[in-house]
Amino acid sequence: MIVAKFGGSSLADGTQFKKVKNIVLSDSERKYIIPSAPGKRGPGDDKVTDLLYACHEAALSGKVFKHLLGRIRERYEEIADEIGVSFDFTADFEDIANELTKGTTRDYIASRGEFLNGKLLAAYLEFPFVDAARVIRFDQNGHFMEEESNALISSVLSEYPRAVIPGFYGAEENGEIRTFTRGGSDITGSIIARGTKADIYENWTDVSGIMMADPRIIRDAMHISEITYRELRELSYMGFSVLHDDAVFPVRRAGIPINLRNTNDPKHPGTMIVASAKIDASHPVTGIAGRKGFCAVALEKDMMNAELGFGRRVLQVFEDFGISFELLPTGIDTMTVIVESAKLMPRLEEVLERLQKDVHPDHLAVHDKLAIIATVGRGMVRNFGTAARLFTAISQQGISIRTIDQGSSELNILVGVDESDFENALRAIYDAFIRM
Ligand code: ASP
Repeated sequence: MIVAKFGGSSLADGTQFKKVKNIVLSDSERKYIIPSAPGKRGPGDDKVTDLLYACHEAALSGKVFKHLLGRIRERYEEIADEIGVSFDFTADFEDIANELTKGTTRDYIASRGEFLNGKLLAAYLEFPFVDAARVIRFDQNGHFMEEESNALISSVLSEYPRAVIPGFYGAEENGEIRTFTRGGSDITGSIIARGTKADIYENWTDVSGIMMADPRIIRDAMHISEITYRELRELSYMGFSVLHDDAVFPVRRAGIPINLRNTNDPKHPGTMIVASAKIDASHPVTGIAGRKGFCAVALEKDMMNAELGFGRRVLQVFEDFGISFELLPTGIDTMTVIVESAKLMPRLEEVLERLQKDVHPDHLAVHDKLAIIATVGRGMVRNFGTAARLFTAISQQGISIRTIDQGSSELNILVGVDESDFENALRAIYDAFIRM
């Protein structure tokens, strides 16, 4: 049994709706369908969710929102027209306008994008519509309640052999609508897959899964056919944007694989995200990702090693400023804290002052404009010389490595280079491991 989530670009207009219907009906195992709100039809277009947020903001500050709401209604009416479904949106849009005038919550307004798209898609597929407010539960503080939702999903959906359930939102027990963060339909799909004990969670977007490196840097980057949840997590953190971060956990816990697929190329098998995958010793690297915008705060102090609590005091300073650290390379008498520049720079002077005061380093320096590259692969653990190959590849380009970090899981080697060397270093690693 398959749970299939379709993203905003897969449902942006009538043509896309038709593709979705073909996909859903081409496999009778696709039983629960999770739609996003209509996304952009092309560059410069608006996502319905953004328009809804704009309506809410206008209403909140006493401005007119009717024209914006009218644009949203037109989008749905255009889709209904193109797919030949007669659907009267009058009552729904009157409700939304009334709620806006009454000063309803931002979450409620945002959720209407998925709600209406779900109703329209259900009518088109001739599937029942099940409101996500019935099965996705949040507590009064807006936190998602996984176990309660899981129980609701299995009991409510057992009555529906097939259904369309809108993504992105749910409700508190009293019916108050709550949403996930942006892109949250991915999470709904994952939760529904877990709750219905699906065999596969399909996530349909407009790309055929994941590439081994960012195709803006490596134009002919190869496609990844299979990747483990853990590898994906490492790569996503370092810049691969594939799924909402929180979407992995429900299915991962239930051992359900995620299949990333392309609505515009449904024959392409896409990428499978699985709990464990076979290791090909000749290809130790699964993917390479990286980001710019880091900064290293380097501390040096004689006998640091013998000073109990030094590391904790250093990290306490960052914690007090609400800055989380990314990497922490340490030496005998040195410790470097690597953080995102955007978080540190606005408070740099204060942080340095506190470090001086709390740990009295002999030397304190800041190196800005660092990029970090993650070379990730489940095959590295069984392989000799991966690190040597990686460093050789980078150094042969005349690039100096500013920091190195490898966790003992041997799943990921992280190197820091100057931002200006980022693209070349990434290409060098790609050539060394993937192009070979
Ligand atoms: N429509 C929501 C957004 O634009 C949620 C989603 O598409 O997953 O963020």
